Amino acid sequence: MEKLEKLKKKRNAIILAHNYQRPEIQDVADFVGDSLALAMKAKETDADVIVFCGVDFMAQSAKIINPDKIVLFPDDTAKCPMAAMVDIDALLHWKKKYGYDIVSYINTTAEVKAISDICCTSANAIKVVRSMPNGIIFVPDENLGKYVKRFVNNEMVLWPGFCPTHLGITKKDVIKLKQKYPNAELLAHPECTEEIIDLANKVASTEGMVKYAKESDAKEFIIASERELCYRMKKEMPQKKFYSIENAVCPTMKKITLEKVVKSLEKMKPEIKLSKEIIEKAIIPLEKMLKIGRD
Ligand code: SF4
Repeated sequence: MEKLEKLKKKRNAIILAHNYQRPEIQDVADFVGDSLALAMKAKETDADVIVFCGVDFMAQSAKIINPDKIVLFPDDTAKCPMAAMVDIDALLHWKKKYGYDIVSYINTTAEVKAISDICCTSANAIKVVRSMPNGIIFVPDENLGKYVKRFVNNEMVLWPGFCPTHLGITKKDVIKLKQKYPNAELLAHPECTEEIIDLANKVASTEGMVKYAKESDAKEFIIASERELCYRMKKEMPQKKFYSIENAVCPTMKKITLEKVVKSLEKMKPEIKLSKEIIEKAIIPLEKMLKIGRD
């Protein structure tokens, strides 16, 4: 920890961590949040170096927003499987076939963002789609797309992508917890399946869940999202109880360790590198999204 503090000062670095990161990473981070909050934070920081503790597309977004800063990504094998589900040629074929605008969830590679009309996160997907006058190709999360479809009038075609972690949360898991904790409210991430969404008291992004739990009179919550989110919630609301789904773990999010964070600041690598052309194209849909803000 001492070494890390010294290195942070020496490099004028900030550590950004996603809500699904290991507890020890959340503890050393300057800021913990969801994809949208992290992108906003990356935009406003005056640090020279951003150490991004999350997965590939998040670190890439930080670089796109800050092309002149050094973005370190302590484990460059931490690639989100959902983001890897998009085939660019097939997406361009869909665009030609339907003639619709591409709304890409932030969980996409920089190359996919570069051909998108606008980005969104789970915190603003409904607002973003409502802002679009035409039909939409929604890529890559089908479950989030299905959820958004409930609230908008746009024609939408959905890419058949998914998050393995959220898809793995079953109705049986949730019912079991609801029986064990009958007073607990169910908060679900929109990457969950429709049968989980239909059982939820509140559907929200991870940041939205934190906000809801803080404002709610309820004292107990079942969290249908990645398990580690409960760590932050318990830390910020020690007077309330949070129950996680045991097997809801994203192995990719757990690849970053404290040792890797220290090492990245020592060696100043692995660093996110993107071509000027990709950055110039991908910043357009990201900036459009940042202007829209949260739902
Ligand atoms: S939780 Fe799902 S969407 Fe998020 S990084 Fe892991 S696999 Fe990707």
